Amino acid sequence: MSLRPILRYGADVLHLPARPVAEITPEIVRLIDDMIQTMYAAPGVGLAATQVGEPLRIFVADVSLGRNPADLITFINPEFVERDGMQLEEEGCLSVPGFNATVVRPSRVVIKGLDRDGREHQREGVALLARAFQHEMDHLDGMLFVDRLRGIKRDLIVRRIRKLTRTGKW
Ligand SMILES: [Zn+2]
Repeated sequence: MSLRPILRYGADVLHLPARPVAEITPEIVRLIDDMIQTMYAAPGVGLAATQVGEPLRIFVADVSLGRNPADLITFINPEFVERDGMQLEEEGCLSVPGFNATVVRPSRVVIKGLDRDGREHQREGVALLARAFQHEMDHLDGMLFVDRLRGIKRDLIVRRIRKLTRTGKW
């Protein structure tokens, strides 16, 4: 296992839809192991493959930050089964370090997909886990939480990132 660099807002792969995984090869399993290690090291509650430069529909999540092994979740080719309710919470992203904003999202979701062994599984997420699932699903569609903001709030973050990029601090 090895840590992979986490790409930041502006890297092309973060802004494009990822493609489905056709086959769970040893390389895919290695990628998942690396993603888990990278997520824990960050630390973060979720990480999508696009964030480490792989345009594939894979994400890992663990809202316990590694404290509870049962909370570690891997999804390959995930899909929403259900989405309902509404929550409004602060959100950040490992690819947009130093910024966060309030994002409106459903408060409960059910997702299905494959686990790392290729078995179909389904998980319900409420509150923070629902938010993490949706945040990672957005990544697989090339969308960051910044893209969910509107107007001045979004412009402000984008402008500050552009400035940091220009001055070599991003
Ligand atoms: Zn993110």
